[in-house]
Amino acid sequence: MTGPAKAGDIRLSFEFFPPKTEEAAEQLWRTADVLAGYAPHFVSVTYGAGGSTKAPTLSTVARLLRETPLNAASHLTCVGATKDEVHAVVDEFRAVGVRHFVALRGDPAGGAGAAYTPFPGGYANAAELAGGLSALGDFEISVSAYPEKHPESPDVAADIDMLKRKVDAGATRALTQFFFENDDFARYRERVEAAGITIPIVPGILPVHNLAQVQKFAGLCGASVPAWLAARLGPIDDDPEERARVAADLAAEQVRGLIALGVTEFHFYTMNRSQLVSAVCDAVGFPRSGVSHRGRAATGAAA
Ligand code: FAD
Repeated sequence: MTGPAKAGDIRLSFEFFPPKTEEAAEQLWRTADVLAGYAPHFVSVTYGAGGSTKAPTLSTVARLLRETPLNAASHLTCVGATKDEVHAVVDEFRAVGVRHFVALRGDPAGGAGAAYTPFPGGYANAAELAGGLSALGDFEISVSAYPEKHPESPDVAADIDMLKRKVDAGATRALTQFFFENDDFARYRERVEAAGITIPIVPGILPVHNLAQVQKFAGLCGASVPAWLAARLGPIDDDPEERARVAADLAAEQVRGLIALGVTEFHFYTMNRSQLVSAVCDAVGFPRSGVSHRGRAATGAAA
């Protein structure tokens, strides 16, 4: 029997969102620069979240592929587009070198929590989209998974059934919604395996930059923020340094616990910032090169 993976054998991926301002773009490039030092398996850029359109995702992914050594994937959703329109978007991403999509249904126009109505002539859910992508080319396809169940799902079994449909349609990796209780993940993974699903279920790790924001978002997307986490971070909310230190410690503890459960891939929600994520990676012992691709000392370039 093999033991838990060594930190150096673990695959990492980092999630970004397209920046809205010049300043935010500069922050993202600094972040990508620092996190490239961990030689991630891939990075991904969200699509359409918060009402944004295709253009900022396309230009961000294109620049990552052009100007960094990072293997950039694009998220893609079914929202507000016919199948033909989605196919045209896929062609545009393919033209800039994208070979990996994170295929998602997307949130309703009214935001997470509102009722979802498929667009007329469009893909109805992520399983259909994954099938469409498989038919369009030899793409790597990742999809979502929900250790605490998607809020629209009647139960975990229905959720896992949808995951199975996504795998049957060509998905080869599932990235989870963030969660804070490793037991939730372990229970979910057991049920996924019992359903005959063998693709890696990659935990989505969210180091907490802002407790109130995470609590609000968790409420909308069906994740829970345990009382112990709020009790640790709440009282130090107005002390940014201490807050960052504790948040990094907690996330590192979570990652170590998952490694002990046999996890060998991690997806980090970076919020386009490197400081907390690199603190977690360093604490766990994920190796990083000393010099970033832009030639700066990675240790001095925290965004
Ligand atoms: P699906 O997998 O299609 O469905 C999710 C669940 O809803 C299913 O498991 C199923 O239980 C239920 N369900 C859906 N359709 C049906 C149906 N017809 N009948 C019965 N049950 C159904 N959103 C963005 O807008 N842009 C992004 O870039 C983005 N990136 C994400 C990345 C990750 C890793 C994750 C976990 C989520 C991301 N999201 C993003 C959020 C995502 O779009 C929402 O969670 C959305 O509500 C569901 O999308 P999905 O792909 O998980 O949907």
